[in-house]
Amino acid sequence: MSENIERIKCLIIGSGPAGYTAAIYAARADLKPVMYTGLEMGGQLTTTTEVDNFPGYPKGVDGTKMMEDLKAQAERFDTEVRFGVVTKVELSDVVGGIHKVVVDGEKQIEAETVIIATGASAKYLGLESEERLKGGGVSACATCDGFFYKDQDIVVVGAGDTAAEEATYLAKICKHVTMLVRRDEMRASKAMQERVFNTKNIKVLFNTELDEVLGEKKAFGDEVVVGVRVVNNQSKEKFEIAVAGVFIAIGHKPNTDLFTGQLEMDDAKYLVTKGKSSKTNKPGVFACGDVQDHEYRQAVTAAGSGCMAALDAERYLGGL
Ligand code: NDP
Repeated sequence: MSENIERIKCLIIGSGPAGYTAAIYAARADLKPVMYTGLEMGGQLTTTTEVDNFPGYPKGVDGTKMMEDLKAQAERFDTEVRFGVVTKVELSDVVGGIHKVVVDGEKQIEAETVIIATGASAKYLGLESEERLKGGGVSACATCDGFFYKDQDIVVVGAGDTAAEEATYLAKICKHVTMLVRRDEMRASKAMQERVFNTKNIKVLFNTELDEVLGEKKAFGDEVVVGVRVVNNQSKEKFEIAVAGVFIAIGHKPNTDLFTGQLEMDDAKYLVTKGKSSKTNKPGVFACGDVQDHEYRQAVTAAGSGCMAALDAERYLGGL
């Protein structure tokens, strides 16, 4: 073996709740896991402020702090957490085969098992004002952030099942919810649309797009959302709506480009796992968290599936 190639038992790709939980379990099973964090260390939760729905934190926890705690817990059991991006994989088809992985375009790793926890990324519109106000009123997760807008007015951008679900969820917390739908109809299932139309405090604006998020500097210099400017794409008329929050719900993109042609994916490019397990179509390769789940997408469900992946990896190695 070349000196430049490192051989390990368990490689974990991704550092969200799924990756860290997999690391904690794999390390305690003596698999000596090595984790590569990816560029967004800590994953999607580091883009949210307070996490109030993760069991065990009665007063809530800052998303970044929670990921730091998970990292410390994984390291306590000797997980090696490395900052780096996996740039290439060559996954073996053979039981007991070695998976070849390249990190940052140069470092080569040979892994007996690979746990994929690369997550999914919420899609955003790409407006400068949207980017600037992320964390200041712009969010892509109603269950994470909805509570901060209790009894206030908000907008939801999007017209699919996620947008409809987020709007009905937010309608229970917020005063008024305005949905911005870019076409003259919604993509969401009929049942979800009915729920939207039957909810009194949701107003749907068709043929309407977000033009700009409007912010205002507060006492300590933080800029927060105070409204949106929208445009009717038929009449071209622009107008403003005063809101405290903007929820972007135009879909998620699983981070699976790296595995194209090697791992089985569904139509939306999420990794397919077998039955209730974390097993992919390659022996010794397991997937957990949002990269294989477009339905629940919660920190706690991701963590649970990370535990499953580590147990599956341990059993796979034990059975060789
Ligand atoms: P979808 O891709 O289904 O919908 C995305 C929505 O965002 C579309 O209405 C689309 O508009 C709109 N959109 C996209 N880009 C823009 C843009 N630039 N400006 C304005 N609007 C935009 O994503 P979802 O996340 O809603 O759903 C993903 C999958 O998950 C679907 O299969 C869905 O059925 C499923 N799902 C199921 C749920 C359930 O069963 N409970 C809950 C949530 C999701 P347009 O229609 O014009 O293209």
